[in-house]
Amino acid sequence: MNSRSDSSSSKVMCQMVPGLDTNEKEYILDQTFELYTSKMVKRNGKGTAIVWFRNDLRVLDNEVLFKAWVDSESVLPVYCVDPRVFQASTRYFGFPKTGGLRGQFIIECLVDLKKNLMKRGLNLLIRHGKPEEIIPTLAKDFASHAVYAQKETCSEEVNVEKLVSKALRRVQLPHSTGRSTSQGSANSPTLQLVWGGTLYHLDDLPFSTNSIPDVYTQFRKSVEAKCSIRSCAKISMSLGPAPCIEDWGCVPSIEQLGLQPQEVSKGLRFLGGETAALSRVYEYFWKKDFLKIYKETRNGMLGPDYSTKFSPWLASGSLSPRFIYEEVKRYEKERLANDSTYWVLFELIWRDYFRFISVKYGNSIFHLGGPRNVERRWNQDQRLFDSWRNGCTGYPLIDANMKELSATGFMSNRGRQIVCSFLVRDMGIDWRMGAEWFETFLLDYDPCSNYGNWTYGAGVGNDPREDRYFSIPKQAQTYDPAVSMWHTGCRSCKNFQERRGTFLENYTWSKLCLSNLETLMETGPLQQEKTVMEDGGGRRRKDT
Ligand SMILES: Cc1cc2nc3c(=O)[nH]c(=O)nc-3n(C[C@H](O)[C@H](O)[C@H](O)COP(=O)(O)OP(=O)(O)OC[C@H]3O[C@@H](n4cnc5c(N)ncnc54)[C@H](O)[C@@H]3O)c2cc1C
Repeated sequence: MNSRSDSSSSKVMCQMVPGLDTNEKEYILDQTFELYTSKMVKRNGKGTAIVWFRNDLRVLDNEVLFKAWVDSESVLPVYCVDPRVFQASTRYFGFPKTGGLRGQFIIECLVDLKKNLMKRGLNLLIRHGKPEEIIPTLAKDFASHAVYAQKETCSEEVNVEKLVSKALRRVQLPHSTGRSTSQGSANSPTLQLVWGGTLYHLDDLPFSTNSIPDVYTQFRKSVEAKCSIRSCAKISMSLGPAPCIEDWGCVPSIEQLGLQPQEVSKGLRFLGGETAALSRVYEYFWKKDFLKIYKETRNGMLGPDYSTKFSPWLASGSLSPRFIYEEVKRYEKERLANDSTYWVLFELIWRDYFRFISVKYGNSIFHLGGPRNVERRWNQDQRLFDSWRNGCTGYPLIDANMKELSATGFMSNRGRQIVCSFLVRDMGIDWRMGAEWFETFLLDYDPCSNYGNWTYGAGVGNDPREDRYFSIPKQAQTYDPAVSMWHTGCRSCKNFQERRGTFLENYTWSKLCLSNLETLMETGPLQQEKTVMEDGGGRRRKDT
């Protein structure tokens, strides 16, 4: 889609998230940094520490940056444009690993990170290539005693950590670089992996990773009762001196990432970066005051404000969940505390849960049988899958959501649950095809949350009591306005306009479109297991 083709209508059709102007965003950034920095924090290390930025593209409450700063005299922040992230394909079905919209979002995160680091006396070194080649060379050139990075939990990322660590062990530093640790070989830099990005710290969990409860409710109750959330790490306002570097490198363009540029001309346009993230928290909580009604609106599908929209920034690490927690607590103190204010935290605990489950179950979250190794018959019917991914099933609710995903990189939680249920339960298609399609397109793609939710939706997740079948006709009645917003995508289907008056007519009509699908829906192996949920699936139960 090209917004230039119809700029006047696209302005109306497209909403920026956050919706604040540049001055307001910069003001919020400065105010927030005033609150979340400290004059008390002191450095007590020597030499240069490298900060290898990964999915933690922020300055505020960044444990990695905090630790590196405290343990050194100078910090070198680095981002590696890894071809395995931007130019590779998804694991089984060969879709692009990163779509153009997420690529653009990450570019914006990097531009903002560089700007925010420069404001505080640092900069961001940008290099193209594999971290295991770039980081050790830098460590040698700058005689760095340690490289600090956020610990990841899924195999692709963990594998890169291992390669970096191995390559660092081969670097020999001259003596007197100020290192005080004895890890690694004689005088090689070490990779210090720091836990971050969750509400609860891994080390504070009241169980070992092997005994993390499989059922979300048990997990939640246990962490809420037995551990507390650590305070945000308050870093110094000034982070310099920066090491002397001639060429810090530029943030790549979308073409340099090897991705197709794509403009958002309709729906939500998310702006990447920490400044935008902090502004969105301010906008949603304080300016628009929507936090107090979140629980009632969160299952919506249309517009920027039925839910927080924090997920793209959480996934890139431009926003810290602990910062959200502290803002919720401040709101509860200064305005009001109710079920809605709590419910944002409740949802963030889902995010933690999927992260910790990935530690417990490893790669099985990516396997067809999921963590429980469930055996079930799936098909990989390309025609059905294409109709789903292209938003041409003939079912307006499904098509509207899939169009939204490819046009904006976002889809509501309820939309995701519905299209997931349709793909796996009605079409009987291998759930991994859907998960990989989401992996390409979602701005907020995160392996733990994405595959965790897909395994749940497909009935191969951890909680055997979950049944997430969504009745399309019932859901469509509730979500008609959202369908109307995107229904133009169904134009190729004859008589759509005349028939969209009532949903049931569309439903009956669309049945004629895909007889193959209908056969599957009526005779498919999943049919016996379906329990139609009147008001959606997961969230109707008290605890989902
Ligand atoms: C099939 C499927 C795939 C999904 N893939 C992803 C993904 O790749 N990345 C991702 O961040 N979320 C994923 N989700 C979860 C959820 O849909 C999004 O987090 C949510 O829609 C983001 O919108 P929001 O920030 O406005 O959420 P809100 O309703 O405002 O919730 C606040 C925050 O809580 C967290 N959260 C809420 N629900 C969930 C959930 N079910 N699982 C994990 N975290 C949750 C998110 O961080 C979210 O930003 C998926 C859900 C489904 C059903």
